[in-house]
Amino acid sequence: MAKILDGRSLAQEIRSEVAADVAEIQQKHGVTPGLAAVLVGDDPASAIYVRNKRRACAEVGMFSDSFTLPWDTDQGEVLALVDQLNSDDRFHGILVQLPLPPQIDTQKIIESTNPSKDVDGIHPYNVGKLVQGHPDFIPGTPSGIQQILLRNGYDPAGQNVVVCGRSEIVGKPLAVLLMQRQPGANATVTICHTGTKDLAIHTRQADILVVATGQPNMITGTMVKDGAVVIDVGINRVEDSTQRRGYRLVGDVDFDSVSQKTEAITPVPGGVGPMTIAMLLVNTLTAARLSIHGH
Ligand code: NDP
Repeated sequence: MAKILDGRSLAQEIRSEVAADVAEIQQKHGVTPGLAAVLVGDDPASAIYVRNKRRACAEVGMFSDSFTLPWDTDQGEVLALVDQLNSDDRFHGILVQLPLPPQIDTQKIIESTNPSKDVDGIHPYNVGKLVQGHPDFIPGTPSGIQQILLRNGYDPAGQNVVVCGRSEIVGKPLAVLLMQRQPGANATVTICHTGTKDLAIHTRQADILVVATGQPNMITGTMVKDGAVVIDVGINRVEDSTQRRGYRLVGDVDFDSVSQKTEAITPVPGGVGPMTIAMLLVNTLTAARLSIHGH
């Protein structure tokens, strides 16, 4: 049976480290790291994400506030809010909760954020720095995955890492991160997507398999090699009448069959999810440090 890579306890460990650093910055520099969250519309899932992020900030002693605009807000109003937050010294980090309503050009909003406050690491400037190997901010999910691997003793160096999914927030930045000629990286990375001809040929080569496709249970036991380390990023709701809520959360990996073969695997929930929020706090701390010391 595979070792379970517990993201909850690891995230708690990282949050404790961040809390200690927040206290130190406050004491030495009189600065309280602050995060502004922008929410457009009333999508319940987005509202929960924002609430959880703010709760996590409070827990480590950071300041945070959220700014909610109605669903039919136009682009100019969102740009004006981001602009105002760009120059508000209380906030070292700004996150705009995605997805945005269709009338808003998401890329324009991302590009309007001050790169020094872009704690999601999605501004083209920060993406470029990541590609060049000297990032200020690594997006939360990829850096959380890297920490899960490293802190459990699975150094990606020299390993065949296969990433299923090439989204801007997970697959692409993770592949870029793990291919760097740097400690904690230096892997041979393969990226798979819907254009990949025979997915299983690739996934079976993986020493470390990361799945971020949004397809419930799509990776099964026959698709992984014995002894692989599997990171399941997926968070999918599937109907389940035995649950009070009427659904349960499953990953993109079929846990039951895959965990029979693997060395280690992340659970869903309780794997990558908590790490994503913990790394957002790390980035907010970094943003506060940049505001004090510069780049
Ligand atoms: P996207 O929908 O943006 O991207 C999915 C990617 O998977 C695409 O690149 C797509 O390929 C690829 N893909 C889809 N189906 C297949 C398939 N059958 N075979 C091979 N590749 C496939 O998803 P995200 O990256 O945003 O999220 C992925 C999952 O991770 C979701 O379940 C999401 O909820 C979860 N998530 C979890 C987070 C966490 O903190 N744990 C954070 C962010 C996301 P193509 O490009 O060709 O369309």
